[in-house]
Amino acid sequence: MAEQAVAAGAQIAQTVQDAARAAGFDLAGVAPIGRFPELGRLPEWLADGHAGEMRYLEARNPTGELKRSAVEVAFPWARSVVVCAINYNSARPYSTDMRDPERGWIARYAWTREDYHKTVLRKLKQVETRLREEVRGCRTLAYVDTGPIVERVYAKYAGVGWIGKNTCIINEQVGSWLFLGVIVTSAELEPSLPAPDRCGTCTACIEACPTGALTEPYRMDATRCISYLTIEKRGSLPTEMRAAIGQHVFGCDICQDVCPWNREAPRATEAAFEPRPELVNPALAWVAELDEEAFANTFRGSPVRRARRSGLRRNAVTAMGNSGRREFLTQLERLCEDPDPVVAEHARWAVAKLRQ
Ligand code: SF4
Ligand code: SF4
Repeated sequence: MAEQAVAAGAQIAQTVQDAARAAGFDLAGVAPIGRFPELGRLPEWLADGHAGEMRYLEARNPTGELKRSAVEVAFPWARSVVVCAINYNSARPYSTDMRDPERGWIARYAWTREDYHKTVLRKLKQVETRLREEVRGCRTLAYVDTGPIVERVYAKYAGVGWIGKNTCIINEQVGSWLFLGVIVTSAELEPSLPAPDRCGTCTACIEACPTGALTEPYRMDATRCISYLTIEKRGSLPTEMRAAIGQHVFGCDICQDVCPWNREAPRATEAAFEPRPELVNPALAWVAELDEEAFANTFRGSPVRRARRSGLRRNAVTAMGNSGRREFLTQLERLCEDPDPVVAEHARWAVAKLRQ
C-alpha cells in the first residue's frame, strides 16, 4: 500500500509539473516540508536587525514560532510545496552597462506591462486547479510573494535552482531572472531533487555590490541592500548609504547583472513581461517631479507603487546628488523647498554633494 501511495504521489507530482509547463512556467518542482538549515538561520538574521523595517518577516503563529521558519509552522496541514518559476529576462540593457548619469535605474522586474504578481498568480491558479482535480479534497493555498514563506528555500528543495551567493535562485539553463509562485498543499507529493550549488569559487556578486549588503556568501543584510533602501525604507535614507545608492531609483539588479549564469540567459517569452520603454533607465529630472496624477498614471498596476511617490522622488533626488551633474542644481535648489519634507531634505543633501 505504501509503495502504491509513493507511486501515486510521484505521478501526481509529474502531472502538476506538466500543468505548470502548460500554464507557461519555465520551471516547476515539488519541495517536501521540513526544517531546512537555510530557515534555521532566520531567527539570528532577524535578531541581527538585517530585516530593517520589514516587520512582517517576524510574524509568528499562535505558539510564538516564526511563521517563516517552516511552512508547516504557518500551515500545520501542509505536506508539500509546489514551486513554479517563470523567466522575466527582457532584452538588455543591464544596469552595469548604463553610463548616463542623468538617468536612473528601475529594477528589471518592474518594467513589465502588467504587475507580475497578477500574471504569475493567474498561471499559478491553473496549476492549483489541476492539483485539486488530481487530489480530490486536498487543501491548497497559492502565493506570489504574499505568503509567510521564504520562497527561494522551497525553490531550492523543489529543484528549481540553487540559492546563489547573491541569495537569488539560479537555474543552470534559465539564469536568475525568475518570478516564483508557490502552492502550499496538504497533498503528499513526491519531492524533486534539490539543485546542486554551482557558484563554485565565483564571488562576482559580492565584489560588485556597491553597499556591502552581501556581508558574506549566501547572506544579505537587507538594511544595506539598495532594493530595501529604495523600496521598503520609509522616510529619510541613512546619510552614510546615500552615495552608494548611485543612480538607483527603484530596486537594484547589480548582483544579478554580474552573475555569469545570466550571461546567456534566454529571453522571456511571456508577452506580459515586455518592458515598458519609459521605465527603462528613466530621466531623473522627470522622476523627481512626478505629481500625484503622473505617478498614478505611470505606475498604475506596477510594483513601483510600493515605493510610493514620496519614496520614488526621494530616490531620484538622491541619484541626482550622486550624478556629478551640476546642471541639476537649479532644479534641486527648487526642490529644497518641496512640500514633501523628505524630498526637500534629500534635495538639500544633493545640492551640498554637487557643490562639493
Ligand atoms: S541588489 Fe544591489 S545592493 Fe542588494 S545585494 Fe544585490 S548588488 Fe547589493
Ligand atoms: S555572481 Fe557568482 S557567486 Fe554570485 S550568485 Fe552568481 S555564480 Fe554565484
